[in-house]
Amino acid sequence: MSERYDHFINGRTAAPIRGEYFPSSNPATLEVLYEAARGTKEDVDAAVEAAGQAFDNPLWRDLSATKRGHLLRRLGDLVVEHAEELARMETQDNGKLLREMRAQLTTLPEYLYYYAGLADKVQGSQIPTSNIQVLNYTQREPLGVVGAITPWNSPLTLTTSKLAPALAAGNTLVIKPSEYTSRTVLRLAELATEAGFPDGVINVVTGYGVEAGAPLVDHPKLAKISFTGSTATGSSIASSAAARFIGCTLELGGKSPNIVFDDANVDNAAMGVIAGIFAAAGQTCIAGSRVFAHRSVYDELLEKVAERARSIVIGDPMLEATELGPLAFDAQQQKVNSYVELGVSEGATVLTGGCRPDVALPGYFYAPTVLTDVNNDMRVTREEIFGPVAAIMPFDTEDEVLALANDTQYGLAAGVWTQNLSRAHRMARRLEAGTIWVNTYRAMSPMSPRQGFKNSGVGIEHGLESMHEYTRLKSVWINIDEGPVADPFIMRS
Ligand code: NAD
Repeated sequence: MSERYDHFINGRTAAPIRGEYFPSSNPATLEVLYEAARGTKEDVDAAVEAAGQAFDNPLWRDLSATKRGHLLRRLGDLVVEHAEELARMETQDNGKLLREMRAQLTTLPEYLYYYAGLADKVQGSQIPTSNIQVLNYTQREPLGVVGAITPWNSPLTLTTSKLAPALAAGNTLVIKPSEYTSRTVLRLAELATEAGFPDGVINVVTGYGVEAGAPLVDHPKLAKISFTGSTATGSSIASSAAARFIGCTLELGGKSPNIVFDDANVDNAAMGVIAGIFAAAGQTCIAGSRVFAHRSVYDELLEKVAERARSIVIGDPMLEATELGPLAFDAQQQKVNSYVELGVSEGATVLTGGCRPDVALPGYFYAPTVLTDVNNDMRVTREEIFGPVAAIMPFDTEDEVLALANDTQYGLAAGVWTQNLSRAHRMARRLEAGTIWVNTYRAMSPMSPRQGFKNSGVGIEHGLESMHEYTRLKSVWINIDEGPVADPFIMRS
């Protein structure tokens, strides 16, 4: 009998109202690890109710911003203390490398510390209107109950990117983690209670998207929805939020270009291409899945990337030497494989990979794959594969590659490899993506705002800007003129 996990509502575990659970397995070994509560509308209602009461509870409502910061800092300390436990859990849930998770767990507390520090620095201002007899000022207020829905590829980091600013700003939360990775988010909520967050401030309802996610999005008491996941789901969430005029922050898919110019350090660029598409088995929104190489360095880059791709150590993600773990679940493996087959049917050549590698474990492994003979009009270069599949294409001029890079529905990130400073700045200005990396890839910090352009998202995560996403601005007018009102039909400002 596997372990069982309930929802986390109002500071304690809560069994699902309909009594149903669903299994969650390890994608490397296929062993069933645990069962999680299969949440439904009834559970979501209970969680939103608890979050609503917590928002009105003086224990939270009247807590100073500085003290909210103290709580976040304590949560950061607890994450540090439990880093190894959380890293192992997440690796078992989604197959990410344990050593990558250990590294993520060293930066995760920084998100909590950063927003802990920002909690009491989000201010309104006094506005110098033309009427000196009136004092006008603005204040930033929390929104209320915020819904957070997150995917499976980086559950802890992506949840913390929402939780930290939302709580720093004084909101309460109902989180719906991905059905593939319920455990670490539940554990984070428990740690938050241990840190001293009042009951109901953080609630977690586990379950499937349609059964638990949709009722959360549609809940009439929700003040905002913050979502990270696919563009298709994001689009339906945006429609629902728009119909009720509530705010939404959406972090969605990508098909990011990684561009290597003829003046680049090709060795470093090849490593940047590898990092961009094969780290986390390509299951990252920022994956550099479209690689453009200047024709004069195309062969050299291709050879270096293919050689390194062939030597990537594939296997058990718990082992220190492993460089590529499994894909996160069965349908992911099928999807990646069918995209490669589609590419071949469109005329692509599989230079390396394109199959399940020879790994002793029974999990959902897929070999690092390099496709050539591709162009920017094929489905493999237009649609997000979300796996370790790089399409490498040659180009001749800067204008040409800019047009190709921008010719996509997405606008999440882009990489540029060049030693020409002017070109680096030109590209940074003209690429239509929310994050631009020059001579690096995948760099990220809680302090640096990120935004998906085009179909990659709405709103901003990270940085001071993200705090504003979780507040509303109120304008207060106070008449300081004690004299008689001269003309009630003319308002002065
Ligand atoms: P997904 O859209 O299938 O699911 C994401 C979450 O939404 C899950 O918790 C799921 O249960 C829930 N969900 C599904 N249908 C729903 C519905 N109708 N209503 C409400 N909730 C629903 O995405 P995924 O497969 O879990 O994640 C992969 C996607 O996430 C990729 O497209 C990737 O690019 C994107 N992603 C984006 C970022 C970013 O910051 N831009 C980061 C990571 C992942």
